[in-house]
Amino acid sequence: MTARVAINGYGTIGKRVAEAVSLQEDMEVAGVVKRSPTFEAYIAADLGLPLYAATKENIKGFEDAGLPVEGTLDELLDDADIVVDCTPKKSGYKELYQKKKIKAIWQGGEKHELTGLSFNAYPAYEKAYGADMVRVVSCNTTGLIRTVYPLMKEIGVKNVLATLIRRAADPWDSKKGPINAIEPVLKIPSHHGPDVQSVLPSLDIQTTAVAVPTTLMHLHSVAVKLEKEVSKDDILDVWDASPRLIFVDAGMGIRSTAQIMELAKDMDRSRGDLYEIAVWEDSVHVVGDMLYYYQAIHQESDVVPENIDAIRAMLQMEDDNMKSMEMTDRAMGIIMPYE
Ligand code: NAD
Repeated sequence: MTARVAINGYGTIGKRVAEAVSLQEDMEVAGVVKRSPTFEAYIAADLGLPLYAATKENIKGFEDAGLPVEGTLDELLDDADIVVDCTPKKSGYKELYQKKKIKAIWQGGEKHELTGLSFNAYPAYEKAYGADMVRVVSCNTTGLIRTVYPLMKEIGVKNVLATLIRRAADPWDSKKGPINAIEPVLKIPSHHGPDVQSVLPSLDIQTTAVAVPTTLMHLHSVAVKLEKEVSKDDILDVWDASPRLIFVDAGMGIRSTAQIMELAKDMDRSRGDLYEIAVWEDSVHVVGDMLYYYQAIHQESDVVPENIDAIRAMLQMEDDNMKSMEMTDRAMGIIMPYE
């Protein structure tokens, strides 16, 4: 089967999901949906992606700009197997997707309650198998699950305390702050802990979050109480065998998120993206049953491979999560522990 994938919203996440879909052997982009002819619409057309307007009213704007569209979102949904909704949170398309009887994936800005099924490919693939509506959890939640779930699976975790130092805005975004301030989320736990629990309900996790004036990445400082005492090497072995993680260290010259982003560019990643969560190997510290570490999250891209696996699970194209992840990662050039 070649899955025909519609992408509604062609911004930060949408354009990356479209590229990742077009790299997969078993998927193709049925169309991407925009409301107005921004530069991203021109790039989509240049890439040969079928371009659709969100509504009939939006079509004139494209025509006036000399950028013809194939039709509207409504029409695209009739010609696709699944839609990946990459519009801003609460855009409100659920009713339309249900009316069109099309399977739909949303992103982490939405609440768990929208779909009742929150997704990360390692722990939740089976649950999403054949499902009609799934939410891929946010970038921060994905980052925490990527390192904590393998520890739960291989060692056992009593509880987690994570402090999230969050980028204020994405690099393209000139509207958001903070500008010269550090802004704590005063509600503790921040929403991230409960969000991790939407995928890992048995995990005891508390999170705090602070926004800082940077755009590159998020950084997490994580403390984990393990169920037994293990060595640092045991921890590194678990993560080494787990999907979508990479190690960085000061010896490589990587002391901040700036060098991690430079590394991704030097690895020739599309847009300089880093789909893997970067764990600082030097920071991994074990005292008795306590584990401490830092990890960095590329907010614009870590959720993209998860969307691809969600498509495969929901359309029942592959029943083994490890095989789906391997296919996704091979196509996207993600560093793999599989072989
Ligand atoms: P974005 O603003 O970069 O892109 C949204 C796109 O949707 C834009 O092209 C916009 O023009 C379009 N759009 C807006 N309203 C629309 C509508 N009603 N119909 C059709 N298109 C519409 O947003 P984003 O950062 O890609 O976020 C999308 C989702 O992904 C949100 O749920 C967000 O929380 C989540 N997410 C974002 C990030 C991140 O770091 N940017 C990371 C993980 C998850």
